[in-house]
Amino acid sequence: MKAVRIHQHGGPEVLQYEDAPEPTPIGPDDILLEVKATSVNHLDIWVRGGLPGMKVNFPRILGCDAAGIVREVGANIDKVRPGDRVTVNPGSYCGHCEYCLAGDASLCLSYGIIGEHGDGAYAQFVRVPGRSAVHLPDAMSFTDAAAVPLVFLTAWRMLVTKAEVQPGEEVLIHSASAGVGTACIQIARRCGARVIATGSSDEKNEKARALGADVVINYRTEDVVKRVRELTKKRGVDVVVDYIGLDTWSKSIQCLRRGGRLVTCGATTGYDPKEDLRHIFYRQLSIFGSTMGTQRELEAVFRCVSRGELKPVIDRVLPLSEAVQAHRLIEERKTFGKLVLTP
Ligand SMILES: [Zn+2]
Repeated sequence: MKAVRIHQHGGPEVLQYEDAPEPTPIGPDDILLEVKATSVNHLDIWVRGGLPGMKVNFPRILGCDAAGIVREVGANIDKVRPGDRVTVNPGSYCGHCEYCLAGDASLCLSYGIIGEHGDGAYAQFVRVPGRSAVHLPDAMSFTDAAAVPLVFLTAWRMLVTKAEVQPGEEVLIHSASAGVGTACIQIARRCGARVIATGSSDEKNEKARALGADVVINYRTEDVVKRVRELTKKRGVDVVVDYIGLDTWSKSIQCLRRGGRLVTCGATTGYDPKEDLRHIFYRQLSIFGSTMGTQRELEAVFRCVSRGELKPVIDRVLPLSEAVQAHRLIEERKTFGKLVLTP
């Protein structure tokens, strides 16, 4: 089959479109999915570039989001059948540790992500756990479906499960043009909040506004903290979503109201910001870490998507053979929403 693999860490140029063995035979708990569409996530870029503590065996097929047609099912799987149209929860879990038994698989002691801890979906076929499959509504295209799982699952858990955003609250979303950001805007609105989104250009900010952001701030030309204080009449926002890290962390803290909540799921600009703890204890802020989510959260996302209440935002669709270009576009922040790849 054709796949995009890396044989070493590095820049986009290490992505190789080449022949790779099909991921067969499958185990009794697995399914074999014919990939019709996959999408690019920042996680793919981290796996490609390498991170301290991240162990990657080479060659490795990248990609954590997949939508396609089930071609084979393991002996223990009755949830899906060959021919079913599905997408997949990118997270895998053991099912029997303390956290899995408590119903919170994203805390699993052996939690893994497709493409990070094993071969992924930048390929014509991928082997995934059968219990992770989610059926697609008939009307949903594979390209739309591939743009949903990781970013919407991440955003849903942050805003709905962790921060518990309430109607009437105000939510600040940094760099909202990223895939997770476009999901956060819609979910925060769905929760009844007023959404303040930041972006690097007026063009991106207009798209964020069209998606549901009530107010947009150009972080290159405006002082985000000052603008948020004006917009909230010095009160500050109830919730900040921060996956930027180093560049935004102290601004996030300063933008919160007393007793506000900060939820973080990533650190694309650096993971070691300086922190003044007085702001946290004196103003009684809450910091929530969040990563991925549960099968139940992903099923909830897909119910909303199938009803048209949430919609995947796709910048463009490229053939899988152009994965190098796709990674470049994401790293150069030239996209709004998701880049989808089709094998
Ligand atoms: Zn577990």
